[in-house]
Amino acid sequence: MNHTDQSQYVFPPAPTPSLPVVGTSARFPIHRVYCLGRNYAEHAREMGVLDVARPGGPLPSRGGDGDPQRPMFFSKPPDAVCTAETIPFPPATHDLQHEIELVAAIGLGGQDIPEARALDHVFGYAVGIDLTRRDLQREAKQRRQAWDMAKGFDFSAPCSAVCPVEQVGHPEAGAIVLDVNGTRRQTGDLSEQIWSVAQAIAALSSLVTLSAGDLLFMGTPAGVGSVEAGDQLDGRIEPVGTIRVRVGAPQPVD
Ligand code: MN
Repeated sequence: MNHTDQSQYVFPPAPTPSLPVVGTSARFPIHRVYCLGRNYAEHAREMGVLDVARPGGPLPSRGGDGDPQRPMFFSKPPDAVCTAETIPFPPATHDLQHEIELVAAIGLGGQDIPEARALDHVFGYAVGIDLTRRDLQREAKQRRQAWDMAKGFDFSAPCSAVCPVEQVGHPEAGAIVLDVNGTRRQTGDLSEQIWSVAQAIAALSSLVTLSAGDLLFMGTPAGVGSVEAGDQLDGRIEPVGTIRVRVGAPQPVD
């Protein structure tokens, strides 16, 4: 990477997105945001995907895709991550859905990281919500088109502060739940994840170079559903923390 004097840019570069870190005033600078799909069998079934991955399956070869025995990754723009109390209802959807997810925050990069060493690369964990414009995703799937715009929009990745590994360890079990306006919508347990954090890191690092600052959203349990302007989302992952976000009115167009 080039280190360019600020004055050499034609306009000031965007600030680095970041998350608070529990127990310190220092922040976690975000590099890239990856998300794992279909990591809980019940959610895969509710999405109509019957052929879900099996743990212990082969890792992806470089550039490989389309094999249901491999973890499936997609990404969101780093500045989609937000910690705002209220986010605007996004444009272009009538079916905005919540997906509560464990987020692994990478503190040490690498390529082809072996599963046995993968957890050494984790700085900490957070609670995230993978907001999804489900109608756009459904349409894209039907047309066999890319569904980036269903996943990677403004404010699409609300996230809690990062809890360092020294405090939380590497949670492999614990309740993962989400309430909308006080009513339980999603219920699961981290132990139900098909791919572990270590397996996901090993697989992802065989496809791309992982860097410190990368976030990995680990997929959602069953119970995803729609939210509307005015709804309050309360998420909790037992050993990690909580997240609260309100969906506000659509942002006025300038
Ligand atoms: Mn998701």
